[in-house]
Amino acid sequence: MQVLNPVKSVGIAFATYVVQSTSHKTVLPIISCNRKYSKMSKLRGADRLKGTEKNVWVEFGKLAVDYKALNLGQGFPDFKPPQHVIDKMVHAVDGSDNALLSQYTRSYGHPRLVNVLAKLYSPLMGRTLDPMNNITISIGAYGVLFCAIQGLINPGDEVVIVEPYFDCYEPMVKVAGAIPKYVPLRPIKKEGVLSSDDWKLDPVELESKFSAKTKAIMINNPNNPVGKVFRKEELEMIANLCKKYDCICISDEVYEWMIYDDNKHLKIASLPGMWERTITMGSAGKTFSATGWKLGWGVGPDHLIKPMQVLHQNCIYTCPTPIQEAVAEGLEYELSIQDKKEECYLTSLALELKPKRDALAKSLTEIGMIPTIPDGGYFMMADISNLNIDIPDDGTKDPYDFKFVRWLCKEKRLSVIPPSAFYNQEHKNLGEKFVRFCFIKKDETLAKADEIFKEWKASQGK
Ligand code: PMP
Ligand code: GLN
Repeated sequence: MQVLNPVKSVGIAFATYVVQSTSHKTVLPIISCNRKYSKMSKLRGADRLKGTEKNVWVEFGKLAVDYKALNLGQGFPDFKPPQHVIDKMVHAVDGSDNALLSQYTRSYGHPRLVNVLAKLYSPLMGRTLDPMNNITISIGAYGVLFCAIQGLINPGDEVVIVEPYFDCYEPMVKVAGAIPKYVPLRPIKKEGVLSSDDWKLDPVELESKFSAKTKAIMINNPNNPVGKVFRKEELEMIANLCKKYDCICISDEVYEWMIYDDNKHLKIASLPGMWERTITMGSAGKTFSATGWKLGWGVGPDHLIKPMQVLHQNCIYTCPTPIQEAVAEGLEYELSIQDKKEECYLTSLALELKPKRDALAKSLTEIGMIPTIPDGGYFMMADISNLNIDIPDDGTKDPYDFKFVRWLCKEKRLSVIPPSAFYNQEHKNLGEKFVRFCFIKKDETLAKADEIFKEWKASQGK
């Protein structure tokens, strides 16, 4: 009998199972057949996956577990979702008389969920949304991104991607056979603490990436990892190019509720002439601090939503009914208290996160990093160039931030993310002098990080 190793790749190159929690510790005898089969031409992965094998979450999620590191890396809260949403999930699974809540629901989204999403987003989009035709549900915002890219983009199309970008945009576009054209946000301020608003697109550089072949632009607002909340004039500049080159805007807005200070989140879909060319994405995982629930939505005109639904119905068919029911009920409740800023989760979470953001910025400044203070989202970029740490060669050709982050995890037991993963190969140098911290963590977790920094600083003086 063949015993499969759950950690190492088994059989063929793309059948890699990485277990991040406990089972990685299980020691099993390995019968590896990797080499034997990889030489046989047909028993291997599809060519279109070439170059997409590395994944920053897989590597650094595992490293954090292996080293029992304090985790300010991968973006997830270390606290529970709001109790009322948990209660609704339990009720949907076990407390309801409706046995159908454990069966398949409508392919494109559970009716109760799309109805409440239409209510939530109609005022923000400045139009009355049709729940059945303007909204589609998939497995997390990842699933919605996949449906949008596979459902709307043809091989050979060009897709403009704003850097730094959520890492999956690049492989998704490439797997669809399209050609990514990258344009970076660049910090315009050269010294001192930065704000995410100091990261700007150069209008000339941006337009130079558009051509007759451009099918879409992908933006992330608020941006992961910078935390930038695009201003109205910045969105207008992007909107004007979308209209000039007649292309789609894929606007990933999963951090839409986490907006700090007096900043305002504006949906590009609400600008004149943009509704008909924009898909806007949201995520229940981000909205309700429940990243493991993996439920996302796309909002847009029926001519763009329909192809996404066609893709979804044949690849995924439908998403878990109890999760959709619980999220729907949760949103209904939040909508009913939306005028109570400190009670409604859609607004109270940002109020809770702001002091965490500020505490982290203080800790980072004290150790000598230069943080970019985010206007939105729950990540913080920090410039590490002043630390001048001589990282031992780890035998890879990876950018400096990858080496630094591995070192930090192994030596200081602190896990963070290397932002050059959010840049294409030619622009990795723009990301490698930073690291990304996640601050949607309990105060005690952030206090432990501060202790690590303090000990580190004290040891530097010795
Ligand atoms: N977009 C961005 C910018 C993200 O950071 C994430 C992280 N989860 C996603 C999309 C995917 O969201 P989900 O977990 O809902 O699939
Ligand atoms: N979106 C999360 C982040 O940026 C995690 C994504 C993932 O783990 N795949 O950290």
